[in-house]
Amino acid sequence: MLLELIFPPKCPYCRKGIRYDMTECLACRAGYPLDPRIEITPKGDICIAPFTYENQFARALKDYKFSGRTFNSKSFAAAIVSAIRKTYHKDMDFDIVTCVPMTKSRLRKRGFNQAAIIGKRVALLSDKPYSELLIRTVDSEHQHYLGREERIKHNKKYYSCISPENVKGKKILLIDDIMTSGATLSSCSEVLRDNGADRVLCAVTAIVKK
Ligand SMILES: [Zn+2]
Repeated sequence: MLLELIFPPKCPYCRKGIRYDMTECLACRAGYPLDPRIEITPKGDICIAPFTYENQFARALKDYKFSGRTFNSKSFAAAIVSAIRKTYHKDMDFDIVTCVPMTKSRLRKRGFNQAAIIGKRVALLSDKPYSELLIRTVDSEHQHYLGREERIKHNKKYYSCISPENVKGKKILLIDDIMTSGATLSSCSEVLRDNGADRVLCAVTAIVKK
């Protein structure tokens, strides 16, 4: 709130000033894609996103991640909830909302987990509990050099469940900021399913164009 007084809110997509009670300007909201994106991750999970990672949406996400414009997460979370309601779950039928965890070194560098902030807001908007169910067990950054299949195989070992009692038999909404290949979401979802999750739905702000 203090930061919002020093830096009055700006529309995430066009950067024009907006009122404090708004999350984006009306013109940008009117320019949202009509239909959410739906993609299937390599392990067969459904992933829903309000946006494609391009133009003003890509810029808003970059501002959020790299320039610390965390205010943008309000708009992203509202768009995610609306995309989920429009597609699969009108009633937001989840027991718990969680997010993709970050490596410790990246968390130290950035100071916040961008997926966690969006996840908490999604939970708040849909009146569901939020809990961090996964941790990143291996702090490795060299997975970019691996092929897609390798990454999926490798990735799974990077995550583990820290709260199995909150996973077993639960319908889980797994949040990240962006889906690229879907390898990360797949790996996290698999760990949740291995720990007895009843159902996992993935949702992100934007999916990268194929
Ligand atoms: Zn705008």
